[in-house]
Amino acid sequence: MRDFLLDDADRAFRTEVRDFLQRELLPRAADIEDRRSWDAVKHVVRALGAAGYLKLMFPDLYKGKLAHPGLTHATILSEEASYINYAFETTIATALSCAYPLHRHASERLRDTYLTPILEGTAIGAICVTEPNVGSDSAGMETRIDFDEMRNEWVINGSKRYISNASVADVYIVYGLTSDGMTAVAVPKNAKGMSFPRNYTFMGRRGCIVGEVGFDDCRVPADHLLGEKGGGFRIMRGMFNFERAILGGSGLGVARSAFDIATAHAQTRKSFGQALGCKQLIWDKIAQMSWRIDASELITYRATKMYDAGADGRALMKEAAMAKLVATETANYCANETVQILGGDGITKEYGRAEQIYRDARALTIVGGTSEVAKYLIAGRDLPDIRITL
Ligand SMILES: Cc1cc2nc3c(=O)[nH]c(=O)nc-3n(C[C@H](O)[C@H](O)[C@H](O)COP(=O)(O)OP(=O)(O)OC[C@H]3O[C@@H](n4cnc5c(N)ncnc54)[C@H](O)[C@@H]3O)c2cc1C
Repeated sequence: MRDFLLDDADRAFRTEVRDFLQRELLPRAADIEDRRSWDAVKHVVRALGAAGYLKLMFPDLYKGKLAHPGLTHATILSEEASYINYAFETTIATALSCAYPLHRHASERLRDTYLTPILEGTAIGAICVTEPNVGSDSAGMETRIDFDEMRNEWVINGSKRYISNASVADVYIVYGLTSDGMTAVAVPKNAKGMSFPRNYTFMGRRGCIVGEVGFDDCRVPADHLLGEKGGGFRIMRGMFNFERAILGGSGLGVARSAFDIATAHAQTRKSFGQALGCKQLIWDKIAQMSWRIDASELITYRATKMYDAGADGRALMKEAAMAKLVATETANYCANETVQILGGDGITKEYGRAEQIYRDARALTIVGGTSEVAKYLIAGRDLPDIRITL
């Protein structure tokens, strides 16, 4: 049975959100993929916000039908959106990753200014961790955040790259180093000294925007600090737990969309006088995809259910990393095998979405911490008596 860890309310929510996305996202998916239409992305973000779906993660703000909204529902949303168009889903997943530290660590005034519009779908958020010289090794970041006591402002200097929603986001959570460690501040889009030198072109995820963000004596008021000075690493760890569980949902959605294409093709395409799926070399691939998807689902929703039951920080790190690892590796496995099962149809745009899914899936094992980093986080908990290093 699929969705074993979900209850009736979760399943009813899945049906509801799936219908919603069929109405709002599906008709715009080709516009996003073929024309990279940011207007189409924004339209769906607004619709999700207006329906209250961007508040699922924040039970104190959510006013909808669910009695116990939480990360499980946000992950179901992520899974269903990724099933239709993973590029679109990255925009909301990033906005929620920005909303998460604002909700937990910003002052009430900052929450009113930046968080509320993101959750209402009228603004977009971004997070700035990665730098030209620092990716997986985020603790080694070079961006500086200094405090100017005379002007009561934070001053940011540095360069961030691979930033999702760069230039289109309204607020950026920027991580940098202060004298006592890593610190996080919120930076509005019109802050003086912030620039967007370029956007990147990726092999997949067409329609989402990813670029560089520069900070040259960029200043924000003192109250734009999140949490405490030097407390940025703890904030980042909480944000990554949340992001990795959501990425489990993204991987699942992408894997399921590939699987559905593969099973349909295996049952209808004839080869050597039989349906393709009758051949052992093909049904073996279907079985391999099937168990991987089920395992991903169990591990992903285990992490979200743990979070919804109160686990966080170090207590969730291993399970969130496992969700991200298994579901994103599964997405790549399924995308690859689906292309193989489809043959030529798998690599043309004319015969469906398999080639798009294959290109989109590739980013999943890199973003939000690579598979190698996820394994490090998992093994680190399994080998408590020794100090493993990346
Ligand atoms: C489409 C896209 C969107 C992104 N969005 C954002 C965003 O919104 N915000 C943000 O801050 N970042 C974002 N990123 C950046 C992403 O988080 C990084 O790409 C990722 O963390 C890996 O960093 P890197 O690319 O610098 O690779 P590197 O860290 O240089 O790693 C390269 C390879 O080496 C491996 N590796 C590194 N160190 C070790 C080691 N010690 N042992 C074994 N293997 C190792 C890695 O796993 C990887 O396979 C995005 C990236 C992409 C591609």
